[in-house]
Amino acid sequence: MSQANASSTDTQFDLFAKVAKFDHEQVLICQDNHTGLKAIIAIHNTVLGPGLGGTRMWKYATEAEAINDALRLSRGMTYKASISGLNLGGAKAVIIGDPAKDKSEHLMRKFGRCVENLAGKYITAEDVGTTTKDMEYIKMETSHVVGLSEIMGGGGDPSPVTAYGVYMGIKASAKKAYGNDSLAGKKIAVQGAGKVGLHLIELLHKDGAIITSTDIFDSGLKIAADKYKATIVKPEEIFSQDVDIFAPCALGAILNTENIAKLKCQIVAGAANNQLEDDTIHGDMIKAKGIFYAPDFLINAGGLINVYSEYNGYVREIAFAQTENIYNTVLNIYSKSEEDNINTQLAAIKLAEKRINDTMHLQSKI
Ligand code: NAD
Repeated sequence: MSQANASSTDTQFDLFAKVAKFDHEQVLICQDNHTGLKAIIAIHNTVLGPGLGGTRMWKYATEAEAINDALRLSRGMTYKASISGLNLGGAKAVIIGDPAKDKSEHLMRKFGRCVENLAGKYITAEDVGTTTKDMEYIKMETSHVVGLSEIMGGGGDPSPVTAYGVYMGIKASAKKAYGNDSLAGKKIAVQGAGKVGLHLIELLHKDGAIITSTDIFDSGLKIAADKYKATIVKPEEIFSQDVDIFAPCALGAILNTENIAKLKCQIVAGAANNQLEDDTIHGDMIKAKGIFYAPDFLINAGGLINVYSEYNGYVREIAFAQTENIYNTVLNIYSKSEEDNINTQLAAIKLAEKRINDTMHLQSKI
């Protein structure tokens, strides 16, 4: 196995410029001929604590795409941990490959060795394309892994906790937009009836909200329609629904110029990571339309809070109770956005960066 600091020899892709732009601490390339492992571990910032972030396995079209994903997602983890008040830094790993074909016990264990070599600077967890079973393989090689199954002493599937945090974000946004946080009778469009989307729909339905949903697959939609009386629309129709609230729970970068123009809602609050194609341009566009946008990395932090709870001996009720704080933080962000006259995404990033800078200052005085 070779494990080396990534270097930029590719003139098409200026790696060092990319790393410098987001100010990453370290980027590792992990490669192993025997298992076919090709992975990138991006450690963005460890001022608050070890960098925690899931390992994504994906059939990336190019290596540049994989590196970009690792860099972007790891920075997002720094902000998410910071704004959630956790003593954690931001990091993320990607494994290049098809999870359905290229995964094996020994590939995951070799990756576990790479994590172990970082001696706790990086803690890994489940993400798109990896499972709790994979985390068990990684655990054979390193203790720096969370997101284990309940039977292994972990917190299990984080999706219900993530959905609960999103629900808190929606309620806080309703309080801001309507003066009270009741969702009874509110029309809510949920994009993506997957793990988080379905848990969210259940919570919203319980509160008396009227649900519209969409997905590219039918299985989740069937549950949404049969169990929670959701109206189903085509994927491309979800943005223009005449609803009060839009909850993106599928993909990133869906809040672009074209889709924002179609929105008729007063609130956007959902689980998907990196919803804004551009934090400034599209965050400002949403603000100019008078829409309250609850920053994704803040309201989808329930999953991170859930895995972080494993450190102190996992108690599900504590993870849910900590996730409830998202409500007050969202209200705080709306106030900050008004005070500083900036969009809510930038206000949230500012708050997250402030906590990191204040902590750095604290350390320099010791
Ligand atoms: P998931 O894969 O279970 O669900 C996503 C759903 O979106 C799938 O059913 C998929 O078919 C659907 N989808 C994909 N493209 C679509 C499109 N164009 N239109 C409509 N639907 C589409 O994933 P999940 O765990 O529910 O996560 C949802 C989002 O929340 C992701 O962006 C994820 O990164 C983010 N997130 C999840 C967690 C968690 O705890 N699971 C935590 C933080 C953030």
